[in-house]
Amino acid sequence: MEKVVIIGSGCAGLTAALYTARANLRPLVLTGRQPGGLLTTTTVVENYPGFPEGIDGYELMVRMQKQAERFGARVQFGTVEKVDLSKPPFGLTVDGEPISAETIIIASGASHRHLGLENELKLETKGVTYCATCDGALPMFRSQPLVVVGGGDSACEEATYLTRFGSIVYLVHRRDTLRASKVMAQRTLAHEKIKPVWNSVVTDILDVKRGKVTGVRLKNLETGNESVLDAAGVFVAIGHLPNTQIFKGLINMDEHGYIIAKHGTATNVPGVFVAGDCADRVYRQAVTAAGMGCAAAIDAERFLSDRNE
Ligand code: NAP
Repeated sequence: MEKVVIIGSGCAGLTAALYTARANLRPLVLTGRQPGGLLTTTTVVENYPGFPEGIDGYELMVRMQKQAERFGARVQFGTVEKVDLSKPPFGLTVDGEPISAETIIIASGASHRHLGLENELKLETKGVTYCATCDGALPMFRSQPLVVVGGGDSACEEATYLTRFGSIVYLVHRRDTLRASKVMAQRTLAHEKIKPVWNSVVTDILDVKRGKVTGVRLKNLETGNESVLDAAGVFVAIGHLPNTQIFKGLINMDEHGYIIAKHGTATNVPGVFVAGDCADRVYRQAVTAAGMGCAAAIDAERFLSDRNE
């Protein structure tokens, strides 16, 4: 029987692992499909305190894991398929294997939001992608026009990164101002290879018949005009959805699927705590996720010691 199982290995999960490990609880961390979480897909993280020159997202996560393991955390590659939270000890099915746990910290993070277009799905891996750092260097994108969709920090980061490879990067945004932080927005718009396409949405991705991306169909929301923009790649960066599907009906969530935390990191099920992007619609930063991971670890530790008193 595990004292603490942590679902997720991003900033929240690994910080919870560090704290529960240092409390001698030997936490078991289940990585999910993306070990290290979304930060492993970013380039330089410039706003995590303690790294004045910035740090590569992947390296930051490797360091967090090593730090947690140094104090006894165990990190297991695996995806939770089912949970039974009806009574303690809780049951989890991980890649077909059962695990039981006295407490659970849900730190399952969030995944990339999709545009919802039929051809988006058909052209995934054929030019449609959700991660510039993962795919931007592929030969099919080299010296080609590329499209990034979105107006937040992610879209700006993706567009800037893609200027290394593409001939030009179109930043297609549905409004005429970016949502991104000022510093990111200014840097992005000042780049000579980035061309913003304002007030526009992608209505279709071409060309399924040719088995690869050749362009996007755009609609200008102000004029209603439609046009086609040639591009070899479409990088979708329009936000995230919480990875909470397996907890539906078991844990209280808001209408968007974000888990509701009360009194710190407690959920409606005593002994189940939550941290990070799966419970945070507002801040969604690496450092706030880490902070919540720390709080969830302290809450789980107190729950266990109160029960054993
Ligand atoms: P975000 O801030 O939620 O921005 C999503 C963008 O996509 C918005 O501009 C939104 O448009 C647009 N959008 C949403 N749905 C759309 C749709 N169906 N069609 C077209 N456009 C759509 O998401 P994010 O950029 O992924 O950032 C998430 C969080 O991570 C933020 O808190 C951000 O600060 C943080 N982050 C930080 C860094 C960094 O500091 N280095 C890097 C990446 C992310 P509207 O603006 O019109 O709503």
